[in-house]
Order: sequence, then C-alpha cells, then structure tokens
Amino acid sequence: MAKIIDGKAIAAKIRGEIAVEVNRLEAKGVKPGLAVVLVGEDPASKVYVSMKEKACQDVGIFSDEYKLPAETPEAELLALIDKLNRDPCIHGILVQLPLPKHIDTEKVLEAISPHKDVDGFHPYNVGRLVVGKPLFQPCTPYGVMVMMKEAGVELAGKEVVVVGRSNIVGKPVAFMCLQQHATVTLCHSKTRDLAEKVRMADVLIAAVGQPEMIKGEWIKEGAVVIDVGVNRVGEKKLVGDVEFEKASLRASAITPVPGGVGPMTITMLLYNTVESAKREAKD
Ligand code: NDP
Repeated sequence: MAKIIDGKAIAAKIRGEIAVEVNRLEAKGVKPGLAVVLVGEDPASKVYVSMKEKACQDVGIFSDEYKLPAETPEAELLALIDKLNRDPCIHGILVQLPLPKHIDTEKVLEAISPHKDVDGFHPYNVGRLVVGKPLFQPCTPYGVMVMMKEAGVELAGKEVVVVGRSNIVGKPVAFMCLQQHATVTLCHSKTRDLAEKVRMADVLIAAVGQPEMIKGEWIKEGAVVIDVGVNRVGEKKLVGDVEFEKASLRASAITPVPGGVGPMTITMLLYNTVESAKREAKD
C-alpha cells in the first residue's frame, strides 16, 4: 500500500517557516507585500483571491487587494499594474486569471515587472526556468517539486512521465524535473498509447483535468504518483486525474485529492513573495 504524501502537512510546515522568516524581516524593517488584482465576478476566482488574502494574513505578509469591475478597460488595468510595479511596498503582483474576454491576458502578464512576477508566468521567468536559472517559479509545479523533496523522492536518472502540457503546470514541471536530472516524457492529448508511457514512469505527474482518466493498472509497481488534477464529480466530491484507490495498491507513494498538491500552490505564492522582498532588500 502506498505511502500518502500529505500536502496539507507539508504546506503547514512551510507556512510556519515562512511566518518565522516574515518576522525576521519585519524586525529589520522589511514587510513583504503582495498585490492581488481581481477583475470581474468569477465565483471560483473570488474564492481563490480570498484564500490568498487569508494565507497572507496568517503568515504576516501585507496583502493589498484590488477588485475591479468586469468592464474595466484594459488600459486601466495596465495603468494599475504600472503603479504596482513602482510601489516599493509591493514585492509580488498577482493578477487572478481568467480575465474578461476584452482584456489581452498575455499583454497583462507581460506588463507585470518580472521582478514582482510571483506567479512566474512572465516570458522572462519562463525563459529563466528553461535555461535552468529560475527567478520566480510558477507556484503549482514548484509546490510539486517541494513535495517530492520533502517526501525524499530522488529524481536523478529516473523516468518521469508528465501528463498534460499546460503553461501553468505540465510544461514547467517537466523542465523542473529535467533540471533535477530526470529523463522526462511529456504527454498530451495527441500522445499515442498513453498507458504504455505511464507504465514506464518511476514518477508520474498527472495534470490533465479529467476525473480518474489514468488507470491504476497503468502504474508501475513502486512508482511515485503526483496527482495535480482537481475534478468535481457530482455535488461535492473532488477526485484527481488518477484512480486513487487502485493506483495506491501499486505505487510506493501517492498524493491524495484533496489534500495533496492543492495546499502547496498558495504556500509557494507566499514563499515567492517573501523571496522577492528579500531580494529587493538585498537580505
Ligand atoms: P489544461 O486544461 O490547461 O491542460 C490540460 C492538459 O491535459 C493539456 O495539455 C491536454 O493536452 C492534456 N490532456 C487532455 N486530455 C488528455 C488526454 N485524454 N490524454 C492526455 N492528455 C490530455 O489544465 P491545467 O494544466 O491548467 O490543469 C490540469 C489539472 O490540474 C486540472 O484538473 C486543474 O484543476 C488542476 N490544477 C490544480 C492546481 C492546484 O493548485 N492543485 C493548480 C492548477 C491546476 P493538449 O495540450 O493536447 O490539449
């Protein structure tokens, strides 16, 4: 039976360390600050933004919140970002996605100073990740890497199979694993014989967004399974991209859904904000 990699416990431990670090910085007159910008009324986005604010408060990070109406012109949003880029109290800027259709998301993400881009989505930060010199690493894949480290998963020489190639999860996590000297296979919807690819994996990272599409019987005996997927089935139930029960019988370690990768994402956002404040203060 697989060991459960407890994302909640790992996240709590790291948030504790972040709170200590924030205290230390405050004693030196540095208060890390995060600006969160929400445009429109998307219910899920509202929930995420309030979770981020609460998480900031819990560790002592100053959080500045901008809730703009859905019809906000693009130029107004860009002007706000420009102001935040120049605000010395703000070390991280996060624009909650998705943005309303009339706003060019790429243009907005590229307007954020790469030195305050705590989501790690700016092409400058993507490029730095690809060349192996990361500045800000995107929060969900970064959380995956931290979880594996905490769980003692050694990647050098291992076969890592990533399913999903989005810019926010699949692609960056593939590069992060490559940086740790894994041999990486990156799969997507056009991949032929996915089962065969998954069977090779010493470490499987699933980021697809389809409930339990990766079958337990595909998992290699002793593999590590990291399930990024969060899929709602029915009214209340959340499941991952992997058949958890069946995969647990074969894997050596596995992340649950919920309580796995989920809690790590906001934790790494806090971490990136504190790192940014430290860089700015040359601490
Ligand atoms: P996207 O929808 O952007 O990407 C999904 C990827 O899966 C695509 O690359 C797609 O391939 C691939 N895919 C879809 N169907 C198949 C298939 N049948 N076989 C193989 N590959 C397939 O999703 P995200 O990366 O944004 O998110 C993935 C999951 O992770 C979602 O469940 C999301 O909710 C969750 N998530 C969780 C977070 C957390 O904090 N825990 C944070 C972010 C995401 P193609 O490119 O060819 O279309």
